[in-house]
Amino acid sequence: MSEVKQKRENKPYNSKFKGNKFNRRKKFCRFCAQGIEHVDYKDVNTLSHYINFNKKIIPAKQSFNCTSHQRRVSIAIKRARIVGLVPYIAD
Ligand SMILES: [Zn+2]
Repeated sequence: MSEVKQKRENKPYNSKFKGNKFNRRKKFCRFCAQGIEHVDYKDVNTLSHYINFNKKIIPAKQSFNCTSHQRRVSIAIKRARIVGLVPYIAD
């Protein structure tokens, strides 16, 4: 039995990280990277990245936003829904 195969078997089944250490998706907040502090509710193009196929707000775990920006994004989406720029549910 090779050494590599043994290492794979020792790995826990429900591993947190998918892929090896070289091929892992990097997490970063896009708003922090671009230096945007205020999320505009009229900017539908940006907000559409944080809306699901079913028009739900994507959680921070999937969107990789930091806590403060995730809060601002969710508030902006809710405001845009009230105004009518973003739909509540999918058609
Ligand atoms: Zn951020």
